Order: sequence, then C-alpha cells, then structure tokens
Amino acid sequence: MSHVDTTVYGSLPNYVGGRRIEVVSETRYPVYNPAFGSVIAEAPESGGDHVASAVDVAQTAFEKWSRIPVTERVKFLFRLERLMSERLDELAATVTREHGKTLSEARGEVLRAIENVEAAAASVYHIMGKNNLDISEGIDEELYRVPLGVFGVVSPFNFPLMVPFWFIPYAVGLGNTVVVKPSEKTPVSMTFITRLFEEAGFPPGVVNVVNGGSKSVDALLINPKVKGISFVGSTSVAEYIYSRGTASHKRVQAGASAKNFEVVMPDADLNLVIPSLISSFFGNAGERCLAGSVLVTLPENHERVLKLFVDVASKLRLGYGLVAGVDMGPLIRREHLERVKRYIEVGESEGARLVLDGRGVRLNDYPDGFFLGPTVFDEVSADMRISREEIFGPVASVMTVRNLDEAIEVINSSRFGNAATIFTSSGHHAREFVSQVEAGNIGVNIGVAAPIAFYPFAGMKDSFFGDLHAQGGDDHIYFYTERKIVISRWGNAKQIVSTH
Ligand code: NAD
Repeated sequence: MSHVDTTVYGSLPNYVGGRRIEVVSETRYPVYNPAFGSVIAEAPESGGDHVASAVDVAQTAFEKWSRIPVTERVKFLFRLERLMSERLDELAATVTREHGKTLSEARGEVLRAIENVEAAAASVYHIMGKNNLDISEGIDEELYRVPLGVFGVVSPFNFPLMVPFWFIPYAVGLGNTVVVKPSEKTPVSMTFITRLFEEAGFPPGVVNVVNGGSKSVDALLINPKVKGISFVGSTSVAEYIYSRGTASHKRVQAGASAKNFEVVMPDADLNLVIPSLISSFFGNAGERCLAGSVLVTLPENHERVLKLFVDVASKLRLGYGLVAGVDMGPLIRREHLERVKRYIEVGESEGARLVLDGRGVRLNDYPDGFFLGPTVFDEVSADMRISREEIFGPVASVMTVRNLDEAIEVINSSRFGNAATIFTSSGHHAREFVSQVEAGNIGVNIGVAAPIAFYPFAGMKDSFFGDLHAQGGDDHIYFYTERKIVISRWGNAKQIVSTH
C-alpha cells in the first residue's frame, strides 16, 4: 500500500430484513479516512420510522428464529466464523480506513470479533435449563431458558467491529434477533459485514443494521418491542441509555468511559514494562477504553522509567495504518484532535511538566490527517484534570507516589473503574493490588488487560452501568434469556385425588 488510498464506500444503506435500504434524511454523517482527512462514506440518520420498521422486521424474524433448534442455530455461527476468517484482511483494512488504527491493530480487532463468534458457538448450548423429578409426589419442576425477542446493539467509534461482536453472536445464538446501530463515525465495517451474515445463511431479519446517531438510538429506547439494549460508549451517554432504557422496562448493559492507571513498582522488569506501557498508552492512538492513561511510579524508579518511556515514545512512527512499519495512526476526527490538544493546554496550565509534546508533529504525506504525536506529562498530581478525566488520545500523565498504598488510594479515588495494571516481581504486591483496586479488568505485568472472549468484559463504577457484562462467561446467558419455570403433574386422576 502506498501513501495514497482512494477507496470510498459512498452512501451507506441500512440492512433490514435481508434488504439494503437507502434512507433519505436531511441529517447525514460524513465518515472520514482520518489519515487523509477525506470523506469516504456517508451515513444517514435513520430516525424513528426506519428504526421502528427494523424492529418490526426483527420481531417477525424472532418468531421463527427462536424456534430453530439451538443445534441448528449454532451452525450459522460456524459458517460466519469461517467467512470472517477467510475475509480477515479485507475486514481489517476496512477498519483501518474508517478508524485510522494500524493494520496489525485492526487485525487484532477482527480476530477478537471472530473469537467472540467462536465463544458464542461454544457456549449457546448453556441455554439448557434444570429440572427435578418429584419435587412433590407426582410433581416435577423444570427451568427453561428462553430467548426474549429483539435486542438493540449500540456501539462506539473506536472498535467498529469488535464491540458489536461482544453482543451479536451471543444474542442471536441464544435465539434473539438484533438491530445494530453502529457509531455514525465508523459505520462502514458493520455495514460491510452484513454481506457475511447473508453468505452464512442467516434468515432475513435476524441481524439488522440501522445507521444514524442519537435520534436512532432514542427510537430504539422508546420502542416497547425492544427487550434490551447492549451499549458501549462514553459515560454520559451510557448513564442516559441506562436510565432511559430501564425506565422503559428494558434490560440494559452499558460499558462506559475509563481512566486507567498503570503502576510500575521498583522491582518490575523494565524490559517487559516499557514495551507493554508503550502499546497500552499509544496503541490505537490512545483511543481504547483499556488504554493506560496515568503512569504511576515511585521515587526510586521514577527517573529511569520516565526516561525509557519517553525515549521509545518519541521514536514511534506515525502514518497511515495500511502502510508497513507505521506504529501509530491518527485520531478519529479533527474536533477530537482539537479536544485532546485542549487537554494538553489544561495540563500545562495546571502546572504539569510537558516532557514530550505531540502537537508539533507534521507529516508531509498526510497534511490533512488528524495526527497527534505521543505526549507525556510529568509531575502530574491526583487533583489535576489530566489525571482524572478521560482524554482518549495519546497523552500520558506520569505521577509519582510514595508507595503502593498511596497508588491504590489514588486509583480508587477515580470515578472510573475500567482497568488498572501493576508491574512488579512481588507476589505480595500483585496480590494486594488485585484485592484492593476497584477496577473491573486488572493487569499483573500486562499493559492492556483485555479479557478473552469467554470471560466477561468487566468494568466498575462509572465505567459500567448494569450488572451483566459484555462477551462470554455466563453473563450473556442471563442477559439474553429469561427463565421460565414449569411445574407439572402427570399422574392419573385417581392418584391425584388420593394424594389430597
Ligand atoms: P459516544 O458515547 O459518543 O457514542 C457511543 C454510541 O452512542 C454511538 O453509537 C452514538 O451514536 C450514540 N450516542 C451518542 N450520543 C448519544 C445520545 N445523546 N443519545 C443516544 N445515543 C447517543 O462514544 P464514542 O465517542 O463513540 O466512543 C468512545 C467512548 O466509548 C469512550 O468514552 C470509551 O472509553 C468508551 N468505550 C468503552 C468501552 C468499555 O468497554 N467500557 C469500550 C470501548 C469504548
């Protein structure tokens, strides 16, 4: 791939009932290739009527789909898995084009999406229930897990494929149908993959995609046929979706924003630590809910860790993610780039020491791209906004604390609890960290604590609203099914009378 990419995807249709539907709407969202700053696609705001008809179609499809035996339903997932594996490179390149992440990061994203299809295929058999003979004389009791109906899936821009796949394969594998509303900033990959659902033979209406922004989400939230919403995005929107969705008697699971701390203890092996930190803080250009954001050191190792970290960060190669050798891509939008730059100004005005400034980066091949180089602040304190608020870009705040207890105290004072990491060679320190830190995903000598698909993707405090998390584990079984109890008596009438 050269430095030029002229691929465009045009106007994106909705995918409803197996048909591609062009939506006429005054509001249209441009989709950019952020490395070039050029528009590569356009998504409409579907709004009320289009969303309502997609839900109706999904509801009709549910009536048949839910009665297909699970052993048959699972075969659609097997076929989808194979098609996604065959088309891995094409899918990954699409993700890079609309998001900007490097091709290897995009491949990692698609592989995790595939892993979720595999985990769903392996786990949907757990829809099986429980039963007891003779809970009373001649009476049996059974528990069935039954699918509920239509689920809405609403996803963020930063993982255009992976996040929808935290939900879709489990929901449909368990017998539900879905209406997916991808981010209006990165809707191309989800639109593209509808072809693979089709090729895998999913009946029309089982998986539907509607494009749009908040109006389309509101249309899902108020629709009584939508039984639940699986959401991932920022905390303010997650709170809104959770309260509005539950007020309309829906199940809601809502992953939200993050501010992740990574603590480097003096006994940590820096050969392992530095590459892990670099990938955590600057991978995906920092637009990752598991990204390191605050680097916590102790007085004994502060200078050494800071020097090595800044040395490597300053050498990262920025560019278009489809070009070989590029380490870091652009941010998603010019407005987001400006927002992250404003945070750098905030850090300066708060008195943090700027030791690496990514604002000066100039890329001759991409004069209109939304690039920001790795940025590092030192002498950050726990009361500064740059150590408390989610920046969602390649900006690291380095903080020095006296000891592990203080590190844990600072971490637990955050409103967020998505992830936290400790680097150490001490089992005692690791154990204390695991037991005391209030975060859903904890890394021990792991920079990005991303749970594999058959574990729930956890998250605490203002990083998650609800109680049943994304991905596999058992949470999906509970979220996407309802329990039905059957108590039955099959004795003959004479026996029944004689027992009373
Ligand atoms: P966002 O909240 O702006 O948008 C997420 C989705 O909500 C999009 O589909 C969008 O169209 C919709 N939306 C936006 N505003 C809305 C409104 N007012 N009403 C109804 N719907 C609305 O998030 P984003 O910028 O796309 O994604 C980045 C955020 O997602 C970050 O905060 C990041 O930490 C978070 N995130 C969290 C996780 C997790 O697992 N906790 C994973 C990935 C991303």
